[in-house]
Amino acid sequence: MTGKKTAKKSPPRTLTPRPSPTRGEGRSRSKKPDAATVQKTLTRLQKAHPDAHCELDHRSPFQLLVATVLSAQTTDVAVNKVTPALFARFRDARALAKADPVRDVEPIINRIGMYRQKAKNIVGLSKQLVEEHGAEVPRSLEALVALPGVGRKTANVVLGVAFGAPEGVVVDTHVQRIAQRLGWTKNAEPPKIERDLCALIPRDKWDITSHVLIFHGRRVCFARKPNCEGCTVNDVCPSAFHAETVGRKAPRART
Ligand code: SF4
Repeated sequence: MTGKKTAKKSPPRTLTPRPSPTRGEGRSRSKKPDAATVQKTLTRLQKAHPDAHCELDHRSPFQLLVATVLSAQTTDVAVNKVTPALFARFRDARALAKADPVRDVEPIINRIGMYRQKAKNIVGLSKQLVEEHGAEVPRSLEALVALPGVGRKTANVVLGVAFGAPEGVVVDTHVQRIAQRLGWTKNAEPPKIERDLCALIPRDKWDITSHVLIFHGRRVCFARKPNCEGCTVNDVCPSAFHAETVGRKAPRART
């Protein structure tokens, strides 16, 4: 046989031009974060917020501990309005341990949420500091979380800010939202987010990580309308320009 085989012609393909991605769209959300990339992004955020620090006013580890307990479900700004009068009257644990929560403390802090419970807790933790720790703030997570009103988050704020030795990354609402938006975690529960961040970020950066992310959350990556246009890391953020629904708390169900 000498006849040539005729190649079967496939029907002509119609190519649909795809719009070129705008910033933030070309990146996959499912990509697993790697430690080197996360740390590079963190360094850039740190440069954008060189003054990132704990915004609760305090002059001692004790005052920081009390201010952090008061800050639960309340803004730092609101706490900073009540602590000057509180610390002017009760400057340390020995003084606050002798106070009556209802008569002496509640009238000073009653502008912040849950002030009754918080008054009881700060007097209770002061008594415990006097009785068990020589009126000093202990330097271990275990001892701190044994104090009234002190959870892991509060304990790590104190360990990181007062002693430079946190035992984890503080995950508040800003850290949670931004870690999710940047794709550093896929988890929604703070303990799991903390575990993910601790695995990606070296220990000596744990403290500054939370301050930088909190600053970024308060100044740029707002919960409702993040300023992606003005964000220094919008070229690497998988949520850039469509972040409104990422990392937001679910609306409360009406009861
Ligand atoms: S502001 Fe936008 S680009 Fe920046 S971290 Fe937040 S979601 Fe990403």
